[in-house]
This record gives sequence, C-alpha cells and structure tokens, in this order.
Amino acid sequence: MSFVFTPPPVPAVPTAGGGSFPVHRIYCVGRNYAEHAREMGHSDRDPPFFFMKPADAVLPVAEGAVGEMAWPGLTDDLHHEVELVVAIGSGGRDIPVEQAAQHVWGHAVGLDMTRRDLQAQMKRQGRPWCIAKGFEQSAPIGPIHPAARTGVLRRGAITLAVNGVQRQHGDLADLVWSVDETIAALSRAWLLQPGDLIYTGTPAGVGAVRRGDLMEAAIEGLGGLRVRVV
Ligand code: MN
Repeated sequence: MSFVFTPPPVPAVPTAGGGSFPVHRIYCVGRNYAEHAREMGHSDRDPPFFFMKPADAVLPVAEGAVGEMAWPGLTDDLHHEVELVVAIGSGGRDIPVEQAAQHVWGHAVGLDMTRRDLQAQMKRQGRPWCIAKGFEQSAPIGPIHPAARTGVLRRGAITLAVNGVQRQHGDLADLVWSVDETIAALSRAWLLQPGDLIYTGTPAGVGAVRRGDLMEAAIEGLGGLRVRVV
C-alpha cells in the first residue's frame, strides 16, 4: 500500500527495562476512588464507566527528567489527576476477572490532565467530554515498569504534589474497581489489544495548575513523574 502522505510515528512510551511500549489506545476510568467520587458530587459505588484519549495524547517523561506540558488553552481550570496506568501486553474479549492479571504487561505513573471547566460545561449540556480530556499532551506518563519485575500492583501510596505542596494522596488498595475488575469490564465493551493503556482513576484532591507549576506524581514501586506546565 502506498500512503498519500507519510504516516505519523507510532506513539510510544519508554519502558524501565529498555525498549518502548507502542500505544494502541488510551482508556480511562471515571471516579474510581470513593473520596474523589464524593468530591465530584457522586455516590461512591457507581458501576465503572470509561472514556478515551487519543493514543498520541501521551507525553512520555524519562525517569529523573522534568517533562514539559504546553498550556492547552481554552481553559481557566486545568486539573491534575494522578493515576496508576496499566499497560496491556496481550489482548482479549470477555476476560474473566481471575485471568485479568495475565494480560498486564506493566504499570506506570500517569496524569489524566483535565480542562475541568469545559468538562463541567459539557456535562451540563449532556455533551461528550472529549474536549475536556482528549487534547494534546493530556496524558503525561512515566516509564512503564514490567510486571515481570514488580508483580501486579494491588496496594501502595499514590501521591501528587504541586510546587512541593501535597495535593493528592491515596492508596491503590482503595480503588473502587480493582485493576482486575476494570480489565474484565473494559474487555466486555471493547476488544482489548496489546498496547492499550488504562488510566485507572484518581484519588481525592484534584485541583488546578497554572503555567510554571511543577507537578510531582509518585506511586510506591514505580518511582516518580515530574511535569512542568509551560
Ligand atoms: Mn481521571
């Protein structure tokens, strides 16, 4: 096949063991920590729901580096959401909860950056959220750590500080829908494929950042992710 123009490069995220993880799709889970669901005005036991970001929304940041996220515009309320990212290594449909862990290639620290004011406006109007969630560089991500080394992460602190002040603090054990349950639910709605990333939801404490702010996200066992808004 001859392309009518040069295809864009495959979005990819470096892995902690060397080599890059090619990104197929980015799935995100909404309101997956009870305290965050409550701060957004919802009950804490809603069934899981999903939205997506385009694969090229990833902003990979190397270990020890400070990534730069360009101010996306169209917002006065750009929010940080620190999240555990699960990287899928083998796909499937209707994956049973008890087999879900076998499909995990690795984990990373991620940020689900959100134009909260636009999201609120779209919600009020009953319209899709894409403009609030799926813009360029809206998915900063640290190196993917192979599950072969870390094991499947089921607990551990997840934190985010802005300019050295802690904003978000939670524990992976407090996910409303566990990683296994999330993979099972996603695979009933979509055919999961190698290269899929799942942003699994954020703990309470989301808030706004301004140009110049430094976000420092961390998850126990996965190291840190530092991103400056420029
Ligand atoms: Mn999120």
